[in-house]
Amino acid sequence: DAPKAGTYLPVLEEIAAEISAMPGRGRSADYIPALACVDPDRFGMAVADLDGGVCGVGEWRTPFSTQSITKVFALALVLAHESGALWEHVGREPSGNPFNSLVQLEYENGVPRNPFINAGALVVTDRLQTLTGDASADLLDFLRAESGNAEIGFDLEVAASEAAHGDRNAALAHFIASYGHIRQPVPPLLDHYFRQCSIEMNCADLALAGGFLARHGVRADGSRLLSRSEAKQVNAVMMTCGTYDAAGEFAYRVGLPGKSGVGGGIVAVVPGRCTVCVWSPGLDERGNSVAGVAALDRFTTLTGLSVF
Ligand code: GLN
Repeated sequence: DAPKAGTYLPVLEEIAAEISAMPGRGRSADYIPALACVDPDRFGMAVADLDGGVCGVGEWRTPFSTQSITKVFALALVLAHESGALWEHVGREPSGNPFNSLVQLEYENGVPRNPFINAGALVVTDRLQTLTGDASADLLDFLRAESGNAEIGFDLEVAASEAAHGDRNAALAHFIASYGHIRQPVPPLLDHYFRQCSIEMNCADLALAGGFLARHGVRADGSRLLSRSEAKQVNAVMMTCGTYDAAGEFAYRVGLPGKSGVGGGIVAVVPGRCTVCVWSPGLDERGNSVAGVAALDRFTTLTGLSVF
């Protein structure tokens, strides 16, 4: 039996103390004003066990912008609906390029390298939209159900701001659509994508919502979302692609499947054991939370809980 969440509290307290003394914790994302104004030094961290128990330190109950972390949940929902068909339209290799890069698409016939860079996430959201009819609402329902927090919602100011600064994502979507890997008109797809990115959650919500990945595909209510094999596959893609062009460094330092977002959150999974979420808005130049990666590095070092 996996340990209860409370078991991890002393380790989390030790990490929070170390992080508070850490200099140079990066800069908040500045591509939209709503993210730029968040203090980069804020910090929270939570661990959820397999039974829905959760504990945390710092600002673990403060909602933040989940951004690209939602790409994991969108991927899981698409796999739950259509199994492997998605993989004809998006690859499973690390890109080695920034998360919003266009460069590989032309050489690879409009098939994005993986579902966690923006290009691939646009394909995933397109498929979710055609499968369910309302991709962003479906995702929100899922996150509310798994976290047990019905208050989770979109931040419509962030979504509007993303749209106002959305030329790069629009270019990606149009380019992919020209190869036939996006099946709906680009403007409504972008609306869903920007709403998806704007979902606000706290560390406890995200650690709980990622629980199905630690439970080998089983949801909070005991029903199965993904087969064991699909859950393993999602964790594998998180490990190799979840932190973009820093995925090698993340595996080296943390050694867990993880997914970051430019809001400063990172969710990491210890399969069969627990889920961890950390938040600190200061980012490195690749768009990953500086204190977040440091905290997860300490977590796996202190507990011995990496997949290696
Ligand atoms: N909304 C951001 C974008 O599309 C999400 C990117 C991220 O979190 N890495 O550019």
